[in-house]
Amino acid sequence: MTGEPLLEVENLRINLALGNAEFPAVQDVSFTINRGETLGLVGESGCGKSITALALIGLLRGPLRVAGGSIRFSGREIQNLSPSKMRKLRGDRISMIFQEPMTALNPLSPVGRQIAEMFVLHKGATWNEAERLAVEALASVRVPAPDRRVKDYPHQLSGGMRQRVMIAIALACGPDLLLADEPTTALDVTVQAEILDLIRELSAAKGTAVLMISHDLGLIANMCRRVGVMYAGRIVEQRAAEDVFRTPSHPYTNGLVASLPLLGARARHGRKRLQEIEGVVPPVSAFPSGCRFHPRCYAATGICQAEDPGATALANGGIVRCHHHE
Ligand code: SF4
Repeated sequence: MTGEPLLEVENLRINLALGNAEFPAVQDVSFTINRGETLGLVGESGCGKSITALALIGLLRGPLRVAGGSIRFSGREIQNLSPSKMRKLRGDRISMIFQEPMTALNPLSPVGRQIAEMFVLHKGATWNEAERLAVEALASVRVPAPDRRVKDYPHQLSGGMRQRVMIAIALACGPDLLLADEPTTALDVTVQAEILDLIRELSAAKGTAVLMISHDLGLIANMCRRVGVMYAGRIVEQRAAEDVFRTPSHPYTNGLVASLPLLGARARHGRKRLQEIEGVVPPVSAFPSGCRFHPRCYAATGICQAEDPGATALANGGIVRCHHHE
């Protein structure tokens, strides 16, 4: 039922192994996504958004591992599922689309075959049935002439068409949750808008919850009702999208808002256009002491360097991690 918690992440910690040492790449990350809801995770690249999404579906590899916290899906802890159960959950109930579909699609297999495979593996369809369903799935993501396009290989399609194929694959089995990691970054602006509309429409029609990940706060504010702002492995502010956008509480969120291009009246009156947040996100092995944002923060004081600000509940809902948020 819409409104019930679907995914509950509590105090997630992901460690990165470098040599003999481990560093917390993601720490104390908590959020809930209700059924049918779209939650945004925003932040510069290297803040831990993508590895958080990969951890949710058991796809962390190499030096990264979940080192603490809990991930409940439909009320059930899913961290310790066997590889085969996790694979089944990934296809049946949770799916993911990535920034560059070329890396996720098999270049040697026609796209129709790749969509059909989902119906065979996860819905027990016969290949004949699955091929018919693949044409319908391509039509549902508005690929023109889907009965011909099913025979195309990924390299024969444009970037926008490939992303539509990825969405068709991701939504083929009617998942409860879609993880969308920068799904439009590699596309030009017009195609970006079409793909976002498609995700919005299809998820609303099917009641699919979405975790939308982007470095673009404008996109997130447009797509999501709630937003988590990530910086250096932590959620530093989490609130209703409208509040984050209009009255950011954390200096980092404020910087993201100030870096958005201004539209309408504010731009016409010649207000400051783009402001950049000076500096870069520190590497995981060199997160600063105290508040991890302090070397880049215009409001930093002595306590910021010395003490890690905990999460504070905000009066109108949500949380912020900042000693001076008020
Ligand atoms: Fe800036 Fe201090 Fe707040 Fe960190 S705790 S965001 S350094 S004011």
